Amino acid sequence: MLVLGIESSCDETACAVVRDGREVLSNVVASQIEEHRLYGGVVPEIASRRHAEAISQIYRQALEEAGVPLEEIGAVAVTYAPGLIGCLLVGLNFAKGLAYSAGKPLVPVHHLRGHIAANYIAHPDLQPPFLCLVVSGGHSHIIEVLSYTAFRVVGRTLDDAAGEAFDKAARTLGFPYPGGIALDKAAQRGDKGAFSFPTPKVAGKYDFSFSGLKTAVINTAHNAAQRGAELPVDDICASFQEKVADILCHNLLAAARDLGYKTLAVAGGVSANSGLRGKLSERCREEGLALYLPPLSLCGDNGAMIASQGYYEYCAGNLAGLGWNAVASLPIDLVG
Ligand code: ATP
Ligand code: MG
Ligand code: FE
Repeated sequence: MLVLGIESSCDETACAVVRDGREVLSNVVASQIEEHRLYGGVVPEIASRRHAEAISQIYRQALEEAGVPLEEIGAVAVTYAPGLIGCLLVGLNFAKGLAYSAGKPLVPVHHLRGHIAANYIAHPDLQPPFLCLVVSGGHSHIIEVLSYTAFRVVGRTLDDAAGEAFDKAARTLGFPYPGGIALDKAAQRGDKGAFSFPTPKVAGKYDFSFSGLKTAVINTAHNAAQRGAELPVDDICASFQEKVADILCHNLLAAARDLGYKTLAVAGGVSANSGLRGKLSERCREEGLALYLPPLSLCGDNGAMIASQGYYEYCAGNLAGLGWNAVASLPIDLVG
């Protein structure tokens, strides 16, 4: 079955056509990043307006690139939670109108479930159950993927998300928003042993905390500025990235050990991080664990991941009526 996936939860307007949850026929993403960069972050009101302007064209392009007419689409899947409410509403209302007028089923998709599903596209052999580290701009979770549509969160961040920590550290070091990728590039030139940043103490065994680490980077930068010393940006990036990767890797492997998982996956924008990918690959090889990483092209927000998860939600009978609403904040293990 062909599923059309629509994503508009933050600052990417995206549509894609995916066959049976695994085969991408088209995946069109329009990013608004350049405009939000002017303000140092996503401005919700601007973001929803841009989605409204872009979505019809992105939808048409997705069908055109897939080479299929709307009649051949079996279901319309759309991100309805979590995200910026005005942004979610643009995608959801577009999807409702399309589903109603074309007589197609409407499938509501949780954005983080979509991020996880990016791995199904890249890895035909990957099937639940597995343990997934979801690290994105707004979330850091360790999640038991019990089936395609059943999840249990076993670890979470108590403050900043990993992507947020990357972006805030990057801003301190002078990189434009969102600085995660630029920090990653600088880290590859730096010495990861140059600075010893603190390991946060958290009560929950698999929980995270990144705000102290972010503060440590800010203090290091300020101290250097006070001394009039040149800021060793690459070394700070490398040391920070090493610490974040270390914490994420440590907790994921501890959870895998305790809960008996031999198959691990990573999802979300920060799964593109070279330090995290390298460390996890190395540690999983040492421990004999299977590790699945999304390709860089599917780490960030896209419509294909929503279409993929939408297929499995459809198979599980999780459909939405026209009264379905968007939800700004919703745990992954609840269907709202
Ligand atoms: P969420 O998925 O939690 O709703 P989001 O959709 O805004 O949030 P994503 O698109 O999944 O987030 O990821 C974006 C985040 O990933 C940003 O914080 C960005 O800086 C970060 N990121 C992207 N590439 C890298 C990288 N190579 N290294 C570190 N961080 C990265
Ligand atoms: Mg984005
Ligand atoms: Fe996302």
